[in-house]
Amino acid sequence: MTNNPVRVLVIEDEERIRQFLQRGLTFEGYRVDTAADGQAGLNAARENTPDIVILDWMLPGMDGIEVCRRLRAGSATPILMLTAKDSVADRVQGLDAGADDYLVKPFAFDELMARLRALLRRSAPVQPETLKFADLALDTGTRQAFRGERAIELTAKEYELLELFLHHPRQVLTRELIYDRVWGYDFGGESNIIEVYVRYLRQKTEAAQEARLIHTVRGVGYVLREDSPPAG
Ligand code: CA
Repeated sequence: MTNNPVRVLVIEDEERIRQFLQRGLTFEGYRVDTAADGQAGLNAARENTPDIVILDWMLPGMDGIEVCRRLRAGSATPILMLTAKDSVADRVQGLDAGADDYLVKPFAFDELMARLRALLRRSAPVQPETLKFADLALDTGTRQAFRGERAIELTAKEYELLELFLHHPRQVLTRELIYDRVWGYDFGGESNIIEVYVRYLRQKTEAAQEARLIHTVRGVGYVLREDSPPAG
């Protein structure tokens, strides 16, 4: 990522999704502007010159296809369309109107980020990397974790949760943010799911009596950090 924050314009009438995107993208370091309908979106695009536009298809008044055509008429800014529609004809219509990519609702935040990064760096594919903290490592290519030399097998959700912690070491991650990022905005499951998965991760990362790295911040959430050695 460059030193200047990337500007994202989110045009989405559904407040829950708009806020979900604003929270998540702001946390990732993007400058986020939002608009709740097509006309406001076009105005914001003219004023703010975004680097990328996330555009919902079903908008009140002017729909996303029309907004897309008008945006495209005046600029080459990448456009990622969001929609519940998933037929081939719909997809073609969206791409014909000038959208660069297409994401079907409901979507996971990580999927959105992957599409966003790909659009922003069309010519430079994302390379796998090894995320590290203390003696904990996570290979994003093979999706395998290590504690020192010890390999740790992770389920899909455990991987996503650990990856989130490793992308934000020493930062307190609120329960809301963890829900957003790992389970998505439409998650309606059991309320202790985060506790359950943190417990799984602790069991796996501490299986050889290693020091705890995922700590509870009471009433708030969790943080990946090293503890100072206990006195005495
Ligand atoms: Ca909508």
